[in-house]
Amino acid sequence: MQKILLIGSSKSQSSTTVQKIAAAGYAADWVETGTAGLEMARAQNPNLVVCDWDLNDCNGHHVLKQMRQDLQLVVTPFILLSSLYDHRHLRQTMQLGADDCLLRPFSDEILIAAIAARLKHQDAIANHYLSHLRLAAEHLNRLSYYDSLTKLPNHLLFEQRFIQLVKTSQQPIALLSLSLDRLRQINNILGYPAGDSLLQSASHRLQACLPTGTTLARLTGNQFAIALGHVEHPGAVRKLATELMDGLSRPFSLPGHEVFLTASVGVSMYPENSQDLPVLMRQADAALEYAKRQKSNYCQFYQSDMAVATEHQIRLETWLRYALERDEFEVYYQPQLNLCNGHIEGVEALIRWHHPEAGTISPGQFIPLAEETGLIIAIGQWVLETACRQARQWQDMNLGLRHMSVNLSSVQFNQGNLGKQVAKTLFKSGLSPRVLELEITETALMQDANAAIHTLNELKNLGIRLAVDDFGTGYSSLSYLQKLPIDTLKIDNCFVRGVTTDPKNQIILQSAINMGHDLGLSIVAEGVETADEQSLLEIYQCDFAQGYLIGKPMPSQLLQTYLEKRRARVSLPL
Ligand SMILES: [Mg+2]
Repeated sequence: MQKILLIGSSKSQSSTTVQKIAAAGYAADWVETGTAGLEMARAQNPNLVVCDWDLNDCNGHHVLKQMRQDLQLVVTPFILLSSLYDHRHLRQTMQLGADDCLLRPFSDEILIAAIAARLKHQDAIANHYLSHLRLAAEHLNRLSYYDSLTKLPNHLLFEQRFIQLVKTSQQPIALLSLSLDRLRQINNILGYPAGDSLLQSASHRLQACLPTGTTLARLTGNQFAIALGHVEHPGAVRKLATELMDGLSRPFSLPGHEVFLTASVGVSMYPENSQDLPVLMRQADAALEYAKRQKSNYCQFYQSDMAVATEHQIRLETWLRYALERDEFEVYYQPQLNLCNGHIEGVEALIRWHHPEAGTISPGQFIPLAEETGLIIAIGQWVLETACRQARQWQDMNLGLRHMSVNLSSVQFNQGNLGKQVAKTLFKSGLSPRVLELEITETALMQDANAAIHTLNELKNLGIRLAVDDFGTGYSSLSYLQKLPIDTLKIDNCFVRGVTTDPKNQIILQSAINMGHDLGLSIVAEGVETADEQSLLEIYQCDFAQGYLIGKPMPSQLLQTYLEKRRARVSLPL
């Protein structure tokens, strides 16, 4: 029942009014003074206040002013009962925030009608705000539990739905991890808006293939998760996976392009593989990784011998996502010795990661993860910028450096706009292009020969040098190398280490050097650790040596001191 508070100094008049209000179906209270009225209003929060102008301790304007200054009562409807027929008095009443003003004498019906009108208005306002609040709450819910691009559940809602499914499903549950292949390349080539629209269309098609009640969630960029309950037989899961992949294999129309998508699917089973959702997710991911390595449109069930990401790897990935912005990377530089003239003429930039808790984390640990997650693009770009800036500084100091080598990962090499990025970086650093040498592994070059040649030509046109890194480990053929616009071969350290006592490696090393020279290439031997190895390389007329014998990778300041010392020694008079 709605509560009305009446504040009035005349006992007899007020008691009649209270009776009339109660008869109209409201709960009514009466107090005699303004002070008591304000106290009761604060204590009981009435739905409406009816107040006389003339009170024993103050007037109705005073009560109204106090109410409008009180956060709790600021919007409580207020009706003033007055006997003053004065226009200014009425104006002031309304200006102070009264909702109505009744001039005596008035009938009971008029008072009840005024109360009803004010309460109705107040209800309408409350409903209006409530509907806004409800919309805001729904929006917040969507943001928290749904992916904003595809409108699919996110990982939080997926977890909740999975737990619910475990409670209701009598049969095993399949957890499918589905990844769209090549999405990154599509983003690079056609741009992110096209990639986003493709993701939306792909998610609609996936949804259309699923039985009712099955949860489809988007977990990360190109990865979806599906929880399929009541699985009677693994064959049903395989059939569904095939239907999902078939659904995606029809062409997608994007403005100006037709795009074909393939997918890979990994499956883990509840409760057979595990009863723990995080473990099941990792098992499905391990199966997915296996599927990706086989061929496009492949579905793989988890098997116990598959490597599942450990807690450590998951933690490492989280750390890696923040490492760049937290400034935890450092570029080290390893010197390269010109075997002909004895000068240090080049350095290779090598990334190091100093984590505040875990200490130094080796590139062997984090680079594959950075490649897998795509973080390598940003990290590689940072290394390139840092190395170019540093090379420019050393050039200005006249330390005798002729080139700065920077490693490119295969993910970076295959990104669409590499040429533009490198050109921009060179421009920003002010480094002459001929000083920069980009190292690309044989494996990266072998992935897509035609695309590789195109990218290499684009880079070559900038005027920079190009090196094939880890040469000898990627089975590239001589005829293939001939087609590439490269300047340098870096022979992998597995052919250099212990070469003095290994006749087979001596033959490989010597013929690689000769072959490289025949193609007009400069040869760098990696992993040189002993003076005998260096002597042999000199005999074979290798051009450059890099390895612990010459110098370990070191921070920029140490490398600078090292170069300054060597220059001072070389320039000493005999
Ligand atoms: Mg290298």
